[in-house]
Parts: sequence; C-alpha cells; structure tokens
Amino acid sequence: HAKAEGPGKWALFDTSMRDRVRDRVEIEFALRHALVKEQLHLVYQPIVELTGGRLVGAEALIRWDHPARGAVSPIDFISIAEDTGLIAEIGGWVLDESLRQFADWRSDGVVDDRFWLSVNVSPRQLRDPALPATLAEALRRYDLPAEVVVLEITESVMVDASVVTEEVLGGLRRMGVRVVVDDFGTGYSALGYLRRHPVTGVKIDRAFVDGLGGNSEDEEIVRAVVAMSSALRLSVVAEGVETPTQRQVLETLGVLYGQGRLWDGPVRPEVFAERWSGLAV
Ligand code: C2E
Ligand code: MG
Ligand code: MG
Ligand code: MG
Repeated sequence: HAKAEGPGKWALFDTSMRDRVRDRVEIEFALRHALVKEQLHLVYQPIVELTGGRLVGAEALIRWDHPARGAVSPIDFISIAEDTGLIAEIGGWVLDESLRQFADWRSDGVVDDRFWLSVNVSPRQLRDPALPATLAEALRRYDLPAEVVVLEITESVMVDASVVTEEVLGGLRRMGVRVVVDDFGTGYSALGYLRRHPVTGVKIDRAFVDGLGGNSEDEEIVRAVVAMSSALRLSVVAEGVETPTQRQVLETLGVLYGQGRLWDGPVRPEVFAERWSGLAV
C-alpha cells in the first residue's frame, strides 16, 4: 500500500518497524523448531491463601530458551504462535507436560489432593472442538480428577465466543474442569459475559493490584469485582501481589487467594517441589 502512495511514503516504514517485522519473522521461524529441539519448558508459580499463606494451587507458565536470543518471554511469542497456528502444537504440549508434572507432585505428596493446577489456554485452542476430548484423554492418562484442573482464558474469548467456543467451554465444564477469566478487568467484558459463559472464577489483573494501598480507584475496582464474584459464586485470585500492603488490602476487601512475587516467582519444577512441598497441609 505504501508504494501506491508514492516512493516518499516508504520513509514511513522506519528502521524500528523493519526491525520489528524481521524480529517477528525470525521468531516465527525459530518457534517452529523450538518444540522438537526441546527449547521450551514450564515454570510454576504458587497460588496461596491470602490469610496464612497456605499453598492452594500453581500456575504453569511457558518459557523459551532461544539459543541466540536467550530467554524469550511468552509475551513475545505466544501471540506469534497464536497467529501462525503453532499454538495448537505448543498448547497441546503445555497441557500434557503440566498435567504429567502435576500427577507426579500428587503421587509424591508434594501437593495435597485439593491443590489445583492452572494452565493458560489461548483463544485459538478454545476454537478446537477436540479440546475437551484431548484433555479428557490426558486426565485419564495421568489419572487426574478434572476438578483440580483450571484453565485460564482471556476476556476476549467471552466477548467473541463463537458457537464452537461455546461448545468447547460447555464441554470442559461438563467434564468438571474449572475455567477462570485471566487478567480480569483489562478487556471489554462486563458482568453479563460472566453470567452467560460457564466460568468458575476470575483472576484480577495485576494492573489493579499495583495501586492498592495508595490508589483508591483500584481499591474500588477490586471491591466491585469481589461483590460481583460473590453474587455469581465465582472464585477470585489476585495476580501480581508484590507487597505486604497489597496482600493486606486484598484480604480486607475479601479476596481469598493471591499469586505474586511476595510469595514466589515462577520457578522450575524442582525448585517448586523443594520450596513448597508439604506446605499445602
Ligand atoms: P498471565 O497468565 O497473566 O501470567 C501472569 C504473569 O505475571 C506471568 O508472566 C508471571 O510471571 C507474572 N507475574 C507473576 N507474579 C508477578 C509479580 O509479582 N509481579 C509482576 N510484575 N509480574 C508477575 P509471564 O510468565 O511472562 O507470562 C506472560 C503471559 O504469557 C501470561 O500472563 C499468559 O497470558 C501468557 N502465557 C504464559 N504461559 C502460557 C502458556 O503456556 N500458554 C498460553 N496460551 N499463554 C501463556
Ligand atoms: Mg494466566
Ligand atoms: Mg493473568
Ligand atoms: Mg496478567
């Protein structure tokens, strides 16, 4: 399009933009090999009860060790995986690998049987009608009850839910799998969406946790989310909790669970087992 407007317009395509496009193409290319080359791994971050700090669950988060670029953040490659369709393969691997680890922790007594594992699933994975069956098969393979598996979806999934996505979400819920809305409050969904879709909880985005203790607007937002969640019987987890003040304010506002560096960052499974083993009981 730029060319049709005259050669001068090429200047709009500046160096930084060109760099970004090249980066994206390079990442896309390398990502195709990341799985087979075993450059992907999962880290786990504990989710705790705000009162007392008892371990209640963990979230699996993907990491990519690129041979030249070093650690590539999921923020920089999940959207590319999503656009190219690579997320099907990567997301399938994440589910299988996290459930395998989870089953090991349960049988080794690292976690108790109420402990839940949260796994992020992208909008594209939720458009795959086979997702419930694939997950059911993995649960059977690792002998895990569906009730302790939590899938984290984005608000956009509820906003643009197609018939297929509705069926997938319904299928997952009928199996007993829990579904929570991640980064809640950052998207465009409203109360009505939470009622219309079969979700079991929300995760308050860390953008609203950040200001707690100083910003009264954030406090009012959290208060509203808690009130709404209690009316709809939804669970609430606050993400990105970093300070004792934030923890205190969240607890006062009635939030039960938290996740954040105040307790621990996302860590390798060996480290997780070492630090958190038995802390659920
Ligand atoms: P998310 O699901 O909202 O995950 C929480 C993010 O907050 C993680 O970033 C985590 O490392 C970070 N975090 C945790 N505690 C704190 C804290 O106290 N302070 C701050 N500032 N940040 C904290 P991460 O690991 O970089 O992941 C970024 C996003 O990438 C995730 O956000 C999720 O949307 C996506 N993602 C990660 N793993 C997967 C995956 O396996 N599949 C899919 N589809 N998406 C994934
Ligand atoms: Mg998440
Ligand atoms: Mg989140
Ligand atoms: Mg977030």
